[in-house]
Amino acid sequence: MLKRPFALGNVRRAPEITDPQPPPVGTLDFANPFPVEAAKHHRYRSRVTPPAKPPAPPALPPLAAPVNSLWGVGGERTQQLARLKLFTVGDLLLHAPRRYEDRRHFRTIAELTLDEARTTRGKIVALGLKKFRGGQKSVFEIILDDGTARLHCRWWNLPFMQNYFMMGDEVFVHGKLLETKPRTIDHPETEVIEAGEESSIHINRIAPIYSLTEGLPQRWLRGLIWRTLQQFVNQVPEPWPGFSPPALPARANAVHMLHFPEEFSDAEIARRRLALDEFVELQRGILGRRKNLESHSAGLPCGGDNRWMRPFLAGLGFRLTEAQTRVLREIRADMTAAHPMRRLLQGDVGSGKTAVAACAALMALESGFNVVLMVPTEILAEQHHRNFTKWFGPLGIRVEFQTGSRKTGQPGATGPVLCIGTHALIESGFTLPHLGLVIIDEQHKFGVVQREELLRKGNFPHLLVMTATPIPRTLGLTLYGDLDVSVIDELPGGRGRIKTYVRLADKLPKVWDFIREKLAAGRQAYVVYSRVDAADTANDLKAATLEAENIQRALQPFRVGLLHGRLKAAEKAAVMTAFRTNTLQVLVATALIEVGVDVPNATIMVVENAERFGLAQLHQLRGRIGRGAHESHCILIGSAKNPDAHTRLQVLAETTDGFKIAEADLKLRGPGELLGRDQSGLPGLKFGRLEDDLDLIRQAREIAGKLI
Ligand code: ADP
Ligand code: MG
Repeated sequence: MLKRPFALGNVRRAPEITDPQPPPVGTLDFANPFPVEAAKHHRYRSRVTPPAKPPAPPALPPLAAPVNSLWGVGGERTQQLARLKLFTVGDLLLHAPRRYEDRRHFRTIAELTLDEARTTRGKIVALGLKKFRGGQKSVFEIILDDGTARLHCRWWNLPFMQNYFMMGDEVFVHGKLLETKPRTIDHPETEVIEAGEESSIHINRIAPIYSLTEGLPQRWLRGLIWRTLQQFVNQVPEPWPGFSPPALPARANAVHMLHFPEEFSDAEIARRRLALDEFVELQRGILGRRKNLESHSAGLPCGGDNRWMRPFLAGLGFRLTEAQTRVLREIRADMTAAHPMRRLLQGDVGSGKTAVAACAALMALESGFNVVLMVPTEILAEQHHRNFTKWFGPLGIRVEFQTGSRKTGQPGATGPVLCIGTHALIESGFTLPHLGLVIIDEQHKFGVVQREELLRKGNFPHLLVMTATPIPRTLGLTLYGDLDVSVIDELPGGRGRIKTYVRLADKLPKVWDFIREKLAAGRQAYVVYSRVDAADTANDLKAATLEAENIQRALQPFRVGLLHGRLKAAEKAAVMTAFRTNTLQVLVATALIEVGVDVPNATIMVVENAERFGLAQLHQLRGRIGRGAHESHCILIGSAKNPDAHTRLQVLAETTDGFKIAEADLKLRGPGELLGRDQSGLPGLKFGRLEDDLDLIRQAREIAGKLI
């Protein structure tokens, strides 16, 4: 091992280090590009003489070449890169920095403030490891001085950190001050500055900071990516020649700018270019799927003749709103068109989508076709089954039921059938001939795959998917980009207002008083609690049961029921019936009731631990009330410990516009959280951001349309 002198500024000029032959690259300063495989732990730098004669660089492989074909990448490094899912040269080029550090301008140590994570640099003037609790615990500390002040950096219980630093080292530190007397940062990110590196790739520039894995040093990876760029970036092809918008750089330039931007704005420009390519790819798939459908299938004639529609509408007890009527016209046009309908019906909670679904079903049934209606929960299936039986039974239409726990069916019976069910409809055992129309309610609870599976039960049936989760435009164009969209933008009249309040838990006694008053006036209430710990089933049940008992005591003499996911289907149905018939006045429930449940006399909702829910989900929950003529009240109980969450909940108090709430939720929590990435069929985007890239998605759709 080469023992490193303490004085800075001379090591890297040691003659043997300039000797090895670098791969054929441009203007790279190769003073020290060569990592040392033998360096264990997270050594940032080599204290070992690089090999005198590296192997000759291989002939330039294409971007698909494995990383171990790169100069300097051995077996151990290959494994580490694989943990980051970096297998090929192309993967490496698209390994986006996690953040950037401005190493052209620093804060001096004296200028560091408590509020922000900043980068600074200084020289180690003291360092040491302290052990305590009989050697079980430790703290390693370095003290940096930059001439303006001193900075203490501490690592708790990571004694091996002492291997990374030496007295006199110049160190970059990135982190947030924990205190100012003395100035201290715990567990900062650090990088020791190599002597003689003043103009290299690591400093005096905006430096990329990558996600790492155990044993992989930041500056080794940065060096590798720099060298790989020099060698390969010109081979990055333009994916859609002639279609790139003039405002964005070529893809190859973007790849370079992504890693080594001249200005911070370059990094965003690069991201946008790469995001555009992702979106074009995505839109090609979406538009291709749609085009494929249109060229391979004919639409089944499902317009109907109104023979059941007329009596149905006459007996419904209300007139359809204008929005409902408009949507039905769109649906009828689709169901008589040359190609199968593929329509998304968006309507806020309570806008009356079920009645629209019923009318669409009647059109297909009148035309002699069968219909399936799939919903995400058994409770909702039961509710729809009850409603549709009430509506369709008198017309002589069979309404059947298909869930995991209950199936009906009359073998040999004839005449058109509406079959309502849960996921059980997708299972291979279920078949229904002459399938004319597939309806999926609460579509956001299903994935694209499930939708396709259900469609395959027929021969290109029409498809109507319904959702109350208002979908931000960006998601509409990606997730549902192959569907036509109808919107019910009007709520039926005669509904009482919903007032929403955000309260802290210490106000609960007052809340119970308020509820007792409303119950005495004949109304009913939901109390929603969040599952405390999904992993701990037994404790959860206890929490729920205990909760229900407490509420029962608080609300004597009114009757309280309990509904949660681990009840058997029949038990759930019994509780729902008791609540619907007002045998129970209060329903303590999990978010299970979020979708679809419709009990107009229930006008109060209390949500405990409301900050644990997403805004869109709370909006859905709140949609369970405000369904009758009485004024409704939604009380969101937040925890005092979390003022941020409190502000977030305030969004709900301020608006009942589901669309605004969904946009806020998308921004706050991101699309994966909002939709459940696995469920949604949402692609894993590396560069695209569904929260902000509406303009790119539009451009991509245009480009994809021309490409197809
Ligand atoms: P969602 O769109 O959330 O599925 P529902 O279909 O459950 O809403 O409808 C909510 C309530 O509004 C139901 O009780 C339904 O009977 C009622 N409803 C639907 N359409 C109308 C209308 N045009 N006028 C009055 N009430 C309506
Ligand atoms: Mg509904």
